Amino acid sequence: MRIIKTISGFRTERKKYANQTIGFIPTMGYLHQGHLCLIDQSIKENDITIVSIFVNPAQFGPGEDFNRYPRDLKTDTKHLKQRGVDVLFFPENKTMYRDDFSTYVEVTDLGKVLCGKSRPTHFRGVTTVVLKLFNLVQPSMAYFGQKDAQQAIIIKKMVRDLDLDLHIRVMPIVRDEDGLALSSRNRYLSASDRRSALLLSKVLEMAKKLISDGQKDCSYLIETMRNNLKADSSIVIDYIEIVSLSHLRKLEKINPKNTLVAAAIKVGTTRLIDNFILGEI
Ligand code: AMP
Repeated sequence: MRIIKTISGFRTERKKYANQTIGFIPTMGYLHQGHLCLIDQSIKENDITIVSIFVNPAQFGPGEDFNRYPRDLKTDTKHLKQRGVDVLFFPENKTMYRDDFSTYVEVTDLGKVLCGKSRPTHFRGVTTVVLKLFNLVQPSMAYFGQKDAQQAIIIKKMVRDLDLDLHIRVMPIVRDEDGLALSSRNRYLSASDRRSALLLSKVLEMAKKLISDGQKDCSYLIETMRNNLKADSSIVIDYIEIVSLSHLRKLEKINPKNTLVAAAIKVGTTRLIDNFILGEI
């Protein structure tokens, strides 16, 4: 596996793959099975698989966990080599953002709701870095996780709006055995935090069951999830919302082909998100 840190070095490497299909997985590292499933899928579907690891400062707000975000390049590299990844792009901050950097790309509407309400500059940071990486890597396919459903929806919209010539594949959420969605941030959780965090996937499971039993009323579903989360005093609810997958607009009734049920909570200082969908992103 080639490990490349510079833009010019990457461009030289990229030229070698001129007539091959390229699968690309952008990550912030500290890789877990969720990331590795995206990578395995890319390896299956493309001639060449390229992964980036970059903890992108532009997607963290003031006071968020940019500085303490977990990093472990050695273990990550070992996983990527084992999987058969061809190239790892691992730039420094100053490589991605020169001192006078001032150009941002923003999907205006979809980035303001759900996570965008409490993290107002987050998605602008994501789309900016992902567009820069797409320009550099020029992939045929890029892989994202449903774990960050809003992110995947926003990136698909950016690709459509800007006529980018690539396909976005969204892969299912990978969970631990107890149901907790895998996340690099789970490492922040103490044993008792983790017990509380589990309630998030539990209430979503409960809502899914209510829907499959015929419940369609979104206000009722949201209230039921809220009441169950409130039972644990160490959980602070950021949001619980039921929106359309296509436009992230609030729904009154469940649409079996176009619904995102998403929630974000804080347990201690750790922010956790989870969701399920009816339909396809
Ligand atoms: P991150 O390193 O957190 O930026 O994530 C990189 C990619 O992995 C994103 O597309 C995430 O949605 C995806 N991802 C993270 N956690 C999971 C998970 N538990 N299941 C599936 N995909 C995930």
